[in-house]
Amino acid sequence: MTEQKYIYLDCAATTPMDPRVIEEFNKQMKENYGNSSSLHAMGQKSAKTLNNSRENIASLINAERNDIFFTSSGTEADNIALLGVARRNKSRGNHIITSNIEHHAVINTCHHLEKQGFEITYIPVDNQGLIDVKQLEESITDKTILISIMLANNEIGTIEPIKEIGKIAKNHDVIFHSDGVQAFGKIPIDVNDLNIDLLSASAHKLYGPKGIGMLFIRNKGIRPGWGKYIEPIMYGGGHERDMRPSTVNVPGIAAFAKAVELAKEEMSTEITRQIRLRDRIVKTVLETIQDSYLNGHPTLRLPNNVNLGFKYIEGESIVLDLDFVGIAASTGSACSSKSLEPSHVLLAIGLSPQDAHGSLRVSLGRFTLEEDINYFLEQLPLVIKRLRQISPLQHKIN
Ligand code: PLP
Repeated sequence: MTEQKYIYLDCAATTPMDPRVIEEFNKQMKENYGNSSSLHAMGQKSAKTLNNSRENIASLINAERNDIFFTSSGTEADNIALLGVARRNKSRGNHIITSNIEHHAVINTCHHLEKQGFEITYIPVDNQGLIDVKQLEESITDKTILISIMLANNEIGTIEPIKEIGKIAKNHDVIFHSDGVQAFGKIPIDVNDLNIDLLSASAHKLYGPKGIGMLFIRNKGIRPGWGKYIEPIMYGGGHERDMRPSTVNVPGIAAFAKAVELAKEEMSTEITRQIRLRDRIVKTVLETIQDSYLNGHPTLRLPNNVNLGFKYIEGESIVLDLDFVGIAASTGSACSSKSLEPSHVLLAIGLSPQDAHGSLRVSLGRFTLEEDINYFLEQLPLVIKRLRQISPLQHKIN
């Protein structure tokens, strides 16, 4: 019996680890098990690996080595950024600005802060997912302490005008956080050019291990008057310069650094290659499948993200039928795809709840081949046709 093909097109949910990263991870786990705070040689070896990794990761975003703080995840980095700035600056102001398409790691932290007396403004987006920058600037008051806008959206891939927002934050003397989890390692990011003060990232989105993230916290160059503008949300030993206590996961961090090194080497060729595959999918689907449309921006979008809408059918059924023929895709955010609620992102770009249920996210990666896309483009129309034939809404189709 021949084994069925399995094609993984869900790299926005998580990526497979790159074999070169696995090799580094295994080596570090075997050879570098010391506690990086220990004084003995084994501990110092770990401390050195930690420092080198910090340096490598910082260089990807043009940051200072000591402004990188390791966390357990992107979610934790987002929590430290929002809670840490809010709690530290409560006496200065209680207003935070974010968008209505953020990941739940930001949105639910904002909901928690609302219960603590903070006022949150959720800036809307247009029908391609771009933030209304004018409304964002007009929302700033003398109580605004933080703006948090994601670099690129995890569901529809739209890349936000971060440089413009960074400039606004700087001009109004407000701290600027960006959730860079989907963009980090995929597109160039320069925290100085973009005026980002805090940036979250996560290793498992760039072929690294799960359970490792980081928060860039600008120290040098922070505007006068802000000083120590963030506080920890956990208390323990003095790890990560008191910002994030707990014995440091040096093998995971070294693997994260290896993933970053590979991202640096391969980014420009991967951007060109993935954009070509991405645009081929979009063009073919829109030309050949009736009542289909693209969600998100046609060009200001992550190279690996395709989000398509199909009228009259449910995204969940498409995902299950694709899975049956050996293709892994998603309806949107992996975290909310089990919920029956339509995606807040698709509603925010103006889709009706019914259409928001009919979306499919296909996210490519370093290991996606042209022949994988051939197979996907062969199977997708069959799946859509079959589901529409059994759809209760089928009479709407010509
Ligand atoms: N932010 C964004 C934009 C994401 O896409 C994700 C994960 O999907 C996260 C935050 C959370 O990252 P982690 O899974 O590392 O907690």
